[in-house]
Amino acid sequence: MADNGGMSIERQELLARFDGLLQPERFKDYGPNGLQVEGRSEIRRLVSGVTASRALIEAAIAARADAIFVHHGLFWRGMDGRITGWLKERIRLLLAHDINLFAYHLPLDAHPLWGNNAQLGLKLGLQGEAAFGEQGLGWMAAADFATAQNLATHVQQVLGRSALCVAGAEGRPIRRVAWCTGGAQGFFEAAITAGADAFITGEISEPQAHLARETGVAFIAAGHHATERYGAPALAAHVADELGLEHAFIEVDNPA
Ligand SMILES: [Zn+2]
Repeated sequence: MADNGGMSIERQELLARFDGLLQPERFKDYGPNGLQVEGRSEIRRLVSGVTASRALIEAAIAARADAIFVHHGLFWRGMDGRITGWLKERIRLLLAHDINLFAYHLPLDAHPLWGNNAQLGLKLGLQGEAAFGEQGLGWMAAADFATAQNLATHVQQVLGRSALCVAGAEGRPIRRVAWCTGGAQGFFEAAITAGADAFITGEISEPQAHLARETGVAFIAAGHHATERYGAPALAAHVADELGLEHAFIEVDNPA
């Protein structure tokens, strides 16, 4: 961790800073954004990660974190409210160590500078902006790749993992690339309508392979985790920098 001289901040001030940047009230989301589990009131060390998994929480405990900032928190629409099994264990660890858990889902995908889509675009060298789909979550950029396979190879090199690419039989040069990080296969048709030649997201489901073949718009599935691991550290590092907090991103590998 970078030691910035031990500055600290009140939990509520940090929450206000996150909320001010990410504006969760603008989103219709699948779970609560903001402070999901309350820990100690004074925060000096911030850890960021993609998902509030037990592995991340244990690593944050080892790093003596006062707060964790994640993209995927603990609570989602459709849960039945029972705190048992794996969920009990995650919450028990947080409470036992008095660690705050901050989670921002769609607001972190969408942030124009520090969000997952913006940061993935930066990594891939795509100068894009929000251009299609619900809640400004689909991004588009001009590009110049001779084939979809060339784009897929570029994505694989940047993300350091294999990607699945389904393209039409005709093949076509890639002049417009659309993307949305994570599990955004449901955005594929909106990307096609918006005029993309290729669409990048984390995961593919069965129907999208047929759509890619039939429309000639390539679908590249590059990993849910792999496409969503840049927003949380970018935003947390920015806020920690502004407030003089210590910050470290903890990568917990995930093949999905
Ligand atoms: Zn996700």
